Amino acid sequence: MIKVKNKKKRRNFRAKYKVIAKKTSLNCFPFREAQNKILNAFQTAQKKLIVLDYDGTLRKFEKNPEAASPEKSLKELLNKLAAKPGVTLAIVSGRKQEELEKWFGQPNFILIGDHGTMLKLQGATTWRPLIKYKISDRENLWAELEGHYAQIAGAVHPKSLYFERKRFSFGLNYRYALPTLQARLQQTLFSPPLQKKLVQSGLQVQMGVSDLEILNRDMVKKSHAIKYLTRLDKYDFAFITGDAWTDEDMFEAAPRGAHTIKLGPAQGEGKQTKASCFLEAPEDTNNEKKVVQFLDFLGKLSTI
Ligand SMILES: [Mg+2]
Repeated sequence: MIKVKNKKKRRNFRAKYKVIAKKTSLNCFPFREAQNKILNAFQTAQKKLIVLDYDGTLRKFEKNPEAASPEKSLKELLNKLAAKPGVTLAIVSGRKQEELEKWFGQPNFILIGDHGTMLKLQGATTWRPLIKYKISDRENLWAELEGHYAQIAGAVHPKSLYFERKRFSFGLNYRYALPTLQARLQQTLFSPPLQKKLVQSGLQVQMGVSDLEILNRDMVKKSHAIKYLTRLDKYDFAFITGDAWTDEDMFEAAPRGAHTIKLGPAQGEGKQTKASCFLEAPEDTNNEKKVVQFLDFLGKLSTI
């Protein structure tokens, strides 16, 4: 009897231990401890690289993605931080270069748009591609997709869908659609002929909770940005953060010893984050505020 009991105890302990080990090794909420570790490393490093996603990381989402422009205080904070000695700061976003250009103009930090494919260096006036590419004619396919989704939305609420035609991808956001429409969309996101066409065109679909992006994954990767940035200098500090699964490409390409933070849960869509820690806060707090506050700390720190 005792033997069985012990066995059970051991099994329970192992199961419990595994769960605890997973949580403590990765979750950096409430963030204070991880934050202090990063602040210390930042303070003593000579060459520091800071890479930030934009939507859901520096700025909360808006119903209309075009409305999520940066506030003046955020732009000032980023410029101030980028001006610190030894700091290279880059925003790496899925946003189109045109949007980043309109919002940031000529900042003293690096802008990388279109999911790691278009680059604008500090103070530069022009953009250049980070990858070799040929723009094939996707316009017809994007128009077909728009027609397909608008038809599903029909009379329910067509304006609650947000389409975005980007240089290398097509986005559909239905985050703010009525629940009835959301359910209908999820059931009918792809008709069989449309699915076939996407496969034939070499395109992949990345599904979010209430958005999707159709893209050529070989071409559109935020890891292009990390590879480029880490070649610019010999950094002894790197901090990389983002909230979405597209940011995993950055975490994966991050240099050894980089501080990488996934904002949000560690698991989703059958994937496990590659970030060194994840910040899963209770629903009533927002991660963007924490990131901005943290960057503010960094900006105020005296460094060697
Ligand atoms: Mg994001």
